[in-house]
Amino acid sequence: MAGKGRSSLKEVIPLNMAVGTMAFCMVAVLSAYLLVARGFSTLERTDMEGRIAQFGVLLRRERESLGGFVMSYAEWGDSYDYLATRDPSYIEDNYPASWMRAQKIDAVLIVADDGEILWSSVAVPRADASSGVPRLRYRSPALFHEAYGVEPSRAVYGFSVFDGVPAMYVSWPVTDDLATLPPRGVLVFVRMLDDEVLRSYAPGDDFNVSWLPASETEKKPVPGIHPVKVDGRDELEAWDPVADADGTVIGYLGYHKDRSWLAALRVMLLQFFVIGAAAGLCAYLASYFFVKRQLVDPILVIRDYLGSFSSALEAGAALGTDRRDELGELSAHVNSLVDRVRVQARELDRLALTDGLTGLPNRRSLDKTLSLLRLRSLSGYPVLDSRSSDERGSVACGMIDVDFFKNYNDLYGHAGGDAALRSIGLVIRECVMRPDDLPSRYGGEEFAVLLPDTDEAGAFTVLERVRRAVGALELPHAGSAVSVAVTVSCGVAAVRPGDAGADMDALMAMADKALYAAKAAGRNRVTAYSSLAADAR
Ligand code: GH3
Ligand code: MG
Ligand code: MG
Repeated sequence: MAGKGRSSLKEVIPLNMAVGTMAFCMVAVLSAYLLVARGFSTLERTDMEGRIAQFGVLLRRERESLGGFVMSYAEWGDSYDYLATRDPSYIEDNYPASWMRAQKIDAVLIVADDGEILWSSVAVPRADASSGVPRLRYRSPALFHEAYGVEPSRAVYGFSVFDGVPAMYVSWPVTDDLATLPPRGVLVFVRMLDDEVLRSYAPGDDFNVSWLPASETEKKPVPGIHPVKVDGRDELEAWDPVADADGTVIGYLGYHKDRSWLAALRVMLLQFFVIGAAAGLCAYLASYFFVKRQLVDPILVIRDYLGSFSSALEAGAALGTDRRDELGELSAHVNSLVDRVRVQARELDRLALTDGLTGLPNRRSLDKTLSLLRLRSLSGYPVLDSRSSDERGSVACGMIDVDFFKNYNDLYGHAGGDAALRSIGLVIRECVMRPDDLPSRYGGEEFAVLLPDTDEAGAFTVLERVRRAVGALELPHAGSAVSVAVTVSCGVAAVRPGDAGADMDALMAMADKALYAAKAAGRNRVTAYSSLAADAR
């Protein structure tokens, strides 16, 4: 773990969830865009191809009908006669301007078999146009054969440019009614394909057709359908070359399809993105609060609970276990673990402060109590208020030592010695009655009793009671020089908080000295420190 920064579920989980939600939203929006845009592009391309084909069909049909029209005039005896007679009444009768307008025929040419234009007419308002006569390539081998002049029965369908405007024309050999005689020339009907006409053939409002003369293009338009931008608008564009009857490209038909749906799609995707982001945020917040409530917060509660327990073995109220999931089980396990540890810690404390042989508090327990009393004596604060005013605050100590116990062991064995120490321990416990009194095993065959709020006289009484009770046990002791039974010698001392040098260490030393004196005086007795001669202290 060293070198790694600490992280918290409170940060890691929201961060991961936020990254996940954002990635999801981005992928969703991106894939929606790709799918929708792609689908639309394929559809509109197919649609564009369909419209171009439809336009081509309309144009061809228009040309066919023009062809049918010119044929009916060309294969007519009057027209055939005109080429021989040049009788103007034929023109006046058959090609008045009103007729041309009505038939949407923009120009008519009657050409002799040597290529000379015998008569031509341009419909109003085309008549105002600068040239007046369509610049058809009359000498084109497609129309006329150089060597033979007009080829019989050779109708020519073609495109040309007239005043910069594309035009379709049909040239038909003029023959007699039965088309059995050699043609005398050709009859040409022309229909202009200006913007208006082109538009009228264009299927749909969002589809348009334009004309680009070959002379105006620097380079050939690329074949195929392309997306382009025109004045900031999106369009789909395609160019079709248009050739004259002899194969010369005279210009291009441009097909344009509106793509304003693309801008609409972008707006829609933006809206979708905003809605998606809002929905993502809502989903994120909802799942964040859910995860926080269901997972993070309970884990933090368990962490805090275990944290405070492990640092001080103190924990508040047990964890709630109402949840019926793994966290509920975890809480239950933690509760029982904490309970078990608490019980064991208490037991460990008890064992650490208890003497194993006699069950009395041990030396450590005595030291702990001495420390408490040391603190109390410093503050002069009494433990109990129920004592007489003389006793209040003074602390007495009694030291008890079994007489000739080495001999006892030697005579009765260590097991016998242990049994005797256990009995003496019980006696001491019984003789020391106040709740704050502390009987303890000091070490070996020595015991100590600590008697708070007790003066030396009181302690003397207690220790005398102990001495008598041990004697009353009548444990045979053949090795004792003072009795036939086991006896104890005791020393007592007491200190008062105000006394000079009256600390607990001094108290223990004083009691020890009194015990030493009791031994010296013949054993099996209680000696008070205050009774010692000055030189024995
Ligand atoms: P005195 O009357 O002067 O106190 O004589 P004593 O033999 O009692 O004193 P001493 O200190 O010479 O001997 C103490 C003996 O107590 C030593 C050991 O045999 C015995 N003893 C100390 N602790 C234990 C114990 O836990 N169990 C047993 N069985 N004997 C112990
Ligand atoms: Mg001893
Ligand atoms: Mg002894």
